Order: sequence, then structure tokens, then C-alpha cells
Amino acid sequence: MYSVAEARERILSHFTPVATETIPLEDSAGRVLAVDLTATHDLPPFDNSSMDGFALRSEDGAGADSNAPVTLRVVDDIPAGSSPNTAIARGESARIMTGAPMPPGADAVIPVEDTDFTVRAAGTPAPPTVSFNRRVTAGENVRRQGMDIRMGEIVLKKGRALDPQDLGLLAMLGYGRVEAHARPRIALLSSGDELLHVGEPLEGAKIRDSNSYMLAAMAEKAGAVVLRLGVAGDSRQSVSALLEQAAALGVDLILSSAGVSVGAFDFIKEVIDSHGRLDFWRVNMRPGKPLAFGEYRGVDFIGLPGNPVSAFVCFEVFVRPVLDRLGGRAQAGRRTVRVLCGEQIDSDGRESYLRATLHETDGVRTAQLAGHQGSGNLLSLVQADALLIIPAGVKCVPAGRELEAVLL
Ligand code: AMP
Ligand code: MG
Repeated sequence: MYSVAEARERILSHFTPVATETIPLEDSAGRVLAVDLTATHDLPPFDNSSMDGFALRSEDGAGADSNAPVTLRVVDDIPAGSSPNTAIARGESARIMTGAPMPPGADAVIPVEDTDFTVRAAGTPAPPTVSFNRRVTAGENVRRQGMDIRMGEIVLKKGRALDPQDLGLLAMLGYGRVEAHARPRIALLSSGDELLHVGEPLEGAKIRDSNSYMLAAMAEKAGAVVLRLGVAGDSRQSVSALLEQAAALGVDLILSSAGVSVGAFDFIKEVIDSHGRLDFWRVNMRPGKPLAFGEYRGVDFIGLPGNPVSAFVCFEVFVRPVLDRLGGRAQAGRRTVRVLCGEQIDSDGRESYLRATLHETDGVRTAQLAGHQGSGNLLSLVQADALLIIPAGVKCVPAGRELEAVLL
């Protein structure tokens, strides 16, 4: 039986990033950049004012104070979006708005609030002169060309999933289209004769199919397109029919849950083997020991355990890294954080992923187990902040020990 790390490496080695495509900037949030993007020009693109006020030569304001107010002639009026009409000489100034280009000669802006010009209503023309009684320093309230970004600098790296602020920056730089990886496509199926559709009333020995909703949402949040194939019954024919359908879709991965354990009605492994290859079907972990990997008619296949918490944990541990790799992300899988164990935890020596709540005091995060750890108890997962990782080989973790955790 493979360890978690061995199984993950083995699975990941089968996947490479999907193709790239050029997409409009407005559709690119969450998509993964396929190339490094560089600044096509400086930002800001020109020296400009960071305040509404008066642009001047700082030497004219260097000696101003309440005993020696300074008065300057106002020779220009520069709204945002307009170019200055004239250079600023000694004794002169220009009214200037936030974002407007600095006029030649001026090297500072005194905000309108710090002057005697008190008429703030929109549409008010510039005054003939302006006075102030505080010292002005060179560079004050001026945003210099290139002070944020220099032309040619790499601003966003290949493999990054684009955040909203990234879209803002790309718009600033004129990238109306970006080269991104396509979204990986997966076929998702559940299995089990006991499964009802969410809208059906509970009856007899049936339960509702919860995995497909949870797993589809996880995959979509991880950037995948999910084709939902419904539920296969516990028979060779039914499993076969759904896998055939999945294989015909041209997906990057077939993902199923349940039916891969040692139950008398667990047909998935057998059907996979009949038209493909089963690489392994157990991993030394808790929860989630039955985890199958292989391929069916040439399409990679991961069979998650049926218990909802096990399915969730195995998605986090094995499927997320695959979707990250397929999607072209630089990092495969979530990063872990270090937390303190808030209570003694006994384990059975398998690598374990326990639902925990986190509490922060003085910057230190402490983990407490969130309810009972049965692999069907989805409420405890709903209430958890993290999956606490007990390493393989550890039988007892004392309170106060540092552990890795996956933040949910
Ligand atoms: P199995 O691996 O088929 O033995 O399933 C293990 C457990 O998971 C059983 O209690 C199943 O009823 C449950 N289970 C399987 N599939 C689902 C599903 N889609 N939603 C909720 N529970 C499931
Ligand atoms: Mg079953």
C-alpha cells in the first residue's frame, strides 16, 4: 500500500497542463496565466498630481510659514485628462486635479485644502492668485513616472490564477486579451444503489447523493469544468455504461465516488480493469483508504471513497493537485500552515486528516478537533476550519505539539 506522498506523486506524474487559449480580459478572473506578462510601459505613464491643488516650484514654497505667507500667480488650469498649456516659472503656479500631468518646471503640489482658495464647488474657475502659509517640499504630492512599475518588468508570472486586482493591473497595462490555460474538464459520477436524487423523499434504506454536489463544487472552485453523469448502480452493466459515457466525452479526468472498496457490490475496480488499467486502489491514510487510480479507455481515472468526509479529504489530497497541474498552476495543491495541537490526539499510525477548528491567541493558532471524526459526519467538516495532519507512524500527539494543517 502506498503512502499519501507516494500515491500523490504517482498520480501527478500522469498529468501535464491542458492547452492554452487567448481570452478576453473580462473573462479571465480565476484563469491561469500561460505566459509571464511584462509591463509594456512605465506606471504611472507620466508624472502626475496625487491631489487636487496647485502645482508649483518647491523653491517658491520652501520659506512659507504663518508669518511669511507666499502668493503665486495662477497661470494654468489642468484637469485630469488634459495636457498643461505652459511651463511654470518662479512665482507661478497652475491649478491641477488629481491624476493630471505635472506641468514642466513644477516639482510639487500644495493641496487646495492648504491654500486660501476655499471655493470648492464643481465648475468654479481657477483664481488669479493663490496664497498659502506652510512650507512646501520638493516632490510633495507628485507621482513620478515609473515609480510603481518600470517598463519591461515582469508583473505577473506564468502559472498564476488571476485575481480581480490582477485584472485591474492588466487593464492598466493595456492587456485586453490574455494567454491562459483552458479549464480542465472532468466527468463526475457517483455510485451506489442506495443513492437518491436530492429532490427525492427519504424512504427505506436509501440516502441522498451528497458527494456529487460537494465534489462538483470543489472541482469548479478549483477551476475545472464539471460534466455530471449522475449515479451508477451497483452492477457491472450500470458501472460500465456510465464509464463508457464518461470516456466518450473527451475529458481530462474521470472522477467517481464510492464502489472502490472490498464490498461485494463494488464493481468499479473490476470494470476499470476490463477496459483499462487499475494502478492502485488503496492508500495508507485515514480517512480514505480506498482510493483508486488508473485509466479507462485511455482516460485517467480517480475513484474516491464513498463516505462523504473521505471523499472530501481525498479530493483535497489527490484531486486538487491534479486539477492544479492540469490547469497550469505553478503550485499543485494547497499550502499547509503550522498550528499547535490543542489537545492530546491518538492516532493509528496512518497519515490522518482530522477535522479541526482553529482558535487564535497572540498570533498562535491552536487546533481543537471538530466533533466526532466518523467519515460520514459531514457536519463536523462544515464546522471545521482546517484539516489537521497527523503524520504517518505517529500514534500519539501530545497537546502543544506543532502540526501541519490544510486551511479550509
Ligand atoms: P462504498 O464505498 O460504496 O462502500 O460507500 C461507502 C459509504 O459511502 C456508504 O455508506 C455509502 O452509502 C456512502 N456513499 C456512497 N456514495 C455516496 C454519495 N454519493 N453521497 C453520500 N454518501 C455516499
Ligand atoms: Mg457502494
